[in-house]
Amino acid sequence: MEKLKEKKLFLFDMDGTLYLGERLYDFTNELLATIKARGGKYMFMTNNSSKSVSDYIKKLARLGIHAEEDDFITSSQATGYYLKKNYRGKVLYVCGTESLKAEIRGQGFEITDELEKVDVVVMGFDTELTFKKLEDVSKLLLLRENIPYIATNPDYVCPTEFGSVPDCGSVCDMLYNVSGRRPLVIGKPEPLMPILAMDKWGYTKEETVVIGDRIYTDIKSGIRADVSTILVLSGETTREILEKSPDKPSYVMESGRELLDILK
Ligand SMILES: [Mg+2]
Repeated sequence: MEKLKEKKLFLFDMDGTLYLGERLYDFTNELLATIKARGGKYMFMTNNSSKSVSDYIKKLARLGIHAEEDDFITSSQATGYYLKKNYRGKVLYVCGTESLKAEIRGQGFEITDELEKVDVVVMGFDTELTFKKLEDVSKLLLLRENIPYIATNPDYVCPTEFGSVPDCGSVCDMLYNVSGRRPLVIGKPEPLMPILAMDKWGYTKEETVVIGDRIYTDIKSGIRADVSTILVLSGETTREILEKSPDKPSYVMESGRELLDILK
């Protein structure tokens, strides 16, 4: 646990880690303030590519957390970063929300619906999905063999007040049934979001820790990025799930309060 005091970059999952649904955990603001007071940096890491950073700033403000643009690393941002590194100057088809398109356009990309112009297909969590978009992507995957195919996040469902709705991974499964192709995935459990965060703020692997409540997304992304991980049991993971999981976090805590007690 002593080693946690040496960490500088804290990458937090949000739901189940800092709050649950619409209820803020009572330690969250003190934990964030303590990290800042120690000269560290924290970031909120999310796979949800349907919302923009400004949507998240509003959501956190509603819960009582003050956040700024620079405090986030989203799968949309990571996708933009990946595209810039690998497909600069290429024309994209984006099956995603207008806010995902704006994020990717902001990285200097042209996005089009004219299928003959498309070089790369990008899938997001598309809460504005239409059958026309599914048909367009089907055409691109079937008629354009080996066209690069990228997805912001692998989640099958996104939680809602009434249960859940299909997320990016489920739509990609529909397209798998059509084309036999699986996309390259950017969000958790892939390591790109932690890597991008370290890159952006200039921290080393040794200085970085990922904190989350899901082993198969949060903790796995940290393990794959080769940084320390803290599993908090304040969300969806129970000790039973942890015991059965092949992936083990560096630290296990009941909640972020234990991390606060160590850092204080
Ligand atoms: Mg979570």
